[in-house]
Amino acid sequence: MPLATQDAHAFHFLVDMLESVEIGLVVLDLEFKVQLWNGFMENHSGLTSTAVREQNIFLLFPELPATWLKRKIDTVVMLNTRAFTSWELRPYLFRFGSSRPITGTSPYMYQNVTISPLAEPDGSIKRVSLMVYDVTDVACSRIELEQANAQLNCLSKTDNLTKLLNRGAWESHLNSEFERFRRYGHDCTLIMLDIDNFKRVNDQYGHQVGDDVIRHLAETMRACLRSTDHLGRYGGEEFAIILPETSLEGACVIAERLRQTIAQAEVRSHNANVSYTVSLGLATLHKQTASSQQWLRQADEALYAAKHAGRNQVLCAGL
Ligand code: GH3
Ligand code: MG
Ligand code: MG
Repeated sequence: MPLATQDAHAFHFLVDMLESVEIGLVVLDLEFKVQLWNGFMENHSGLTSTAVREQNIFLLFPELPATWLKRKIDTVVMLNTRAFTSWELRPYLFRFGSSRPITGTSPYMYQNVTISPLAEPDGSIKRVSLMVYDVTDVACSRIELEQANAQLNCLSKTDNLTKLLNRGAWESHLNSEFERFRRYGHDCTLIMLDIDNFKRVNDQYGHQVGDDVIRHLAETMRACLRSTDHLGRYGGEEFAIILPETSLEGACVIAERLRQTIAQAEVRSHNANVSYTVSLGLATLHKQTASSQQWLRQADEALYAAKHAGRNQVLCAGL
């Protein structure tokens, strides 16, 4: 076969491959008119190559980020160099339907795009090419992984029974609130709370009812406190609450309201209606408080004193 015929064949094959390749290929002139539009672009946009030829891309796709894309293309032409955009910065350039409609993880096709200068025989740049890569699979996998990690992170900080912070996560709030007090000196008060005679509840009604009581207490605390307060399950039936921006007097009012709400409530469990009470110990931060552990100890001692004084009451450290 003569060389010229071989070249013609190779060119024909190349054009065929560019038509069917799973990458979007677009050529634009410097007035943003479409010069080339391959099969991938036809399939995903629903517009044929004939329909878009010599049409301004921004009129065809008004949702394109015109200012951004024009600036990108200007840079490519001026510097005679490629530019890239990744799905992480901009999920897509052309809003095409997802290539994963079955799993429903993405409503649109995530795209990476490369913009390249196309040199004329004399070296001048009068056109640019856009290569549009469908990266929906990669993007969805990454997003799913990030969601799973966020969920795991949340689970590792949450107590399973009450959905409150677990001890470890709560203690990190204790330390950061202590540091914040040292820096800014804002009021901050700690409440330690323990269910009174809880062993009797378990013994009398069974462990499941005991669990219902613990859940009820967590719900009641959530309802009585602000979303900025840090609520944690410190141990079995012992809970800890940090009240930022709250003086000892303010915390006393909150603790007393919580105590009364609990004392008046009845937990409706499958085989019993159970009443219960709690004891609460409070400690507020002072300049003299040496460490977060000392702060915790003071609240714990106040709680112990409340138990000793007969339970179902609020006592404050240092009063
Ligand atoms: P006090 O008023 O002095 O606090 O008496 P108490 O009976 O509440 O204290 P004690 O420490 O003797 O008993 C606590 C009980 O809490 C013992 C333990 O079995 C129970 N408990 C701890 N965690 C759970 C839990 O998750 N579910 C249930 N149902 N019981 C729990
Ligand atoms: Mg107890
Ligand atoms: Mg206890």
